[in-house]
Amino acid sequence: MPALDIRFRRFTSLNTTIRLKDGTLHVRLSDLLEASPETVHHAIAHILLAKLYRKPIVPSHADRYRRYVRSEAVAKGAEHIRITRGRKRISTPVGHFYDLNEVFDAINLRFFHGLLGRPTLTWSAHHARRMLGHYDAAHNTIVVSRVFDRADTPRCAIEYLLYHEMLHLKHPVRVKAGRRCVHSREFQAEERLFPELEEAKAYLKCL
Ligand SMILES: [Zn+2]
Repeated sequence: MPALDIRFRRFTSLNTTIRLKDGTLHVRLSDLLEASPETVHHAIAHILLAKLYRKPIVPSHADRYRRYVRSEAVAKGAEHIRITRGRKRISTPVGHFYDLNEVFDAINLRFFHGLLGRPTLTWSAHHARRMLGHYDAAHNTIVVSRVFDRADTPRCAIEYLLYHEMLHLKHPVRVKAGRRCVHSREFQAEERLFPELEEAKAYLKCL
């Protein structure tokens, strides 16, 4: 069994990550989960290990975790943290054609085992063409340019934009020899797992 390095962090959302490096399992959890019941810690451990070793997640564990994070106490704590640790101008996640929260949840289930804590999602206030999307770690917010909230935007383009920003959630910026590494090799490898990558990129290029 590898050595364990488990830490609770002051994240701005319910992020939980696991990675195996140099024979040690590094687990990072939101401090919001610190006081959760032991059964919830069991469920999280199960989900993380299943994810790491690519094993199926036992539904009762997935269910236990989901019920807990949806409970009123946790939802209130998350909201409190969001307000006190992050402040930013938010417009709305619900556009005329796409609801960013809905797309986020779908991507989260499809690619991240539902483990990414949902940050604040918002359409940009303006129709920015240069900045298509970005993740603001300080405010735990993903902003997507409003130019994409159109009936003729293919869903895969919105999904790809969110998927990319969600990878930023999963792979925080690292500083290597004084340089910020934003799109690390692991980030790029995982980005290539997106099935409609070429199609989405081609669409965004023609914009
Ligand atoms: Zn990026």
